[in-house]
Amino acid sequence: MHTIAAASVPSELTNDLAAPHNEAPNKTTVLIVDDARTNRAHVRELLRAAQLCDECLFAEDGFVAFKTLREQPVDLVVCDLNMPRCDGLKFLRLKATDPALESVPVIVLTGAEDQLRKMQALTSGASDYVIKPVDPSELVARIAVHLKVRKLQAKLINANHELQRLSQLDPLTEVFNRRELMARLDEEFLRSRRYDRAFSFVLLDLDHFKAVNDSFGHPAGDRALIAVAQALKETLRCHDSIARYGGEEFALILPETSAESGVLAAERVRAAIERRQLEHEGQPIVITASLGVAAFPHALVDKPADLVSLADAALYDAKRSGRNRVMAAV
Ligand code: GH3
Ligand code: MG
Ligand code: MG
Repeated sequence: MHTIAAASVPSELTNDLAAPHNEAPNKTTVLIVDDARTNRAHVRELLRAAQLCDECLFAEDGFVAFKTLREQPVDLVVCDLNMPRCDGLKFLRLKATDPALESVPVIVLTGAEDQLRKMQALTSGASDYVIKPVDPSELVARIAVHLKVRKLQAKLINANHELQRLSQLDPLTEVFNRRELMARLDEEFLRSRRYDRAFSFVLLDLDHFKAVNDSFGHPAGDRALIAVAQALKETLRCHDSIARYGGEEFALILPETSAESGVLAAERVRAAIERRQLEHEGQPIVITASLGVAAFPHALVDKPADLVSLADAALYDAKRSGRNRVMAAV
């Protein structure tokens, strides 16, 4: 057993690392893996003195450590290499089998003479090592560096997710944009054909919308588009896809929906838009929509674009026969 004294760590490394206890998502958790209880307690004391983490978890061998990692979020692992049953190297190999654990850094504690095992640990996925007997300041500084890298990584991943989400959305109405719609239509088409399931595709065009802009101004027209998108979200099921197809046109993908059910859903949408009470400076704005429905499978449909053409032709029929109505493709 090596005694580890309290260590000081440069403040630029510890800043922002330990979050307040009541902020669970930002909580910093470190897992300490060592068969010797006193060693585990020493590392915990170091972390506590340096205010590097909010919670310490403990494991006495690699199996317990792997199980713990899979059960709860951990930001960093400090792991001894020599342990009975499942040692540090076995732990690293186990951890590598689960891609979800890839980003959790592991710092291994190793003897100075153990050059080979040190290299094996690094090639098996360890992020760093500290030579025993452990220099407390060095261990604390390395933990701080790896926690900081991990926090930055998490920020980047979140920013990436947000960018990806935004790239799928229409900025005005916050329903999917046309590119995302087409990608989803391709997917639904393949899924539907593979499993021999029906789905419906709907094109919706607001009636005489130019007149809304002309009478009430473009900003009022924008608010009406947002209200229509809201009506669509409220009326449809959560696994349906809603997209802005063009200026005042929307498109809907309704999975597991036959032509008859597609027409019923489109009719519910039409009625919901008509019911929506909008006004501009005390004057009512009446919004109605025409909808064309096409369902797959259909004798004339070999590819997604055929389905879009059919729905477009049905929409054209709805316009020609008086607007504010639903027509199905024939
Ligand atoms: P129809 O019933 O035949 O569809 O008539 P319409 O007036 O809706 O059709 P038209 O294609 O002549 O005009 C579409 C209008 O939609 C004109 C355009 O200014 C308006 N529009 C398209 N995109 C937007 C937008 O983002 N905001 C606003 N406010 N208006 C838009
Ligand atoms: Mg139009
Ligand atoms: Mg229109």
